[in-house]
Amino acid sequence: MHDGDDEPVVQPDGTIEQAKLRYQSSDARCGDCGCSGDELEWSWYCSDSTSWNSLAGRAGWLVRCPSCDADVMLFCVVVS
Ligand SMILES: [Zn+2]
Repeated sequence: MHDGDDEPVVQPDGTIEQAKLRYQSSDARCGDCGCSGDELEWSWYCSDSTSWNSLAGRAGWLVRCPSCDADVMLFCVVVS
């Protein structure tokens, strides 16, 4: 182990395209405008190392609605 403040604590477990394929059937949908699928933005989310050290870290795929500028869902891949 090394102190890697520059790097995400947890690396993505695949590409965004792979994540979409894996989780799209989970019905990620914006509760406000009803956007789903390719209308939503997917990105890798990882909390900072401070959170992980206090066992409050989580990492996963964050789905956002660009129209509402709101988080729709976080598919947790790793939880400390
Ligand atoms: Zn929306």
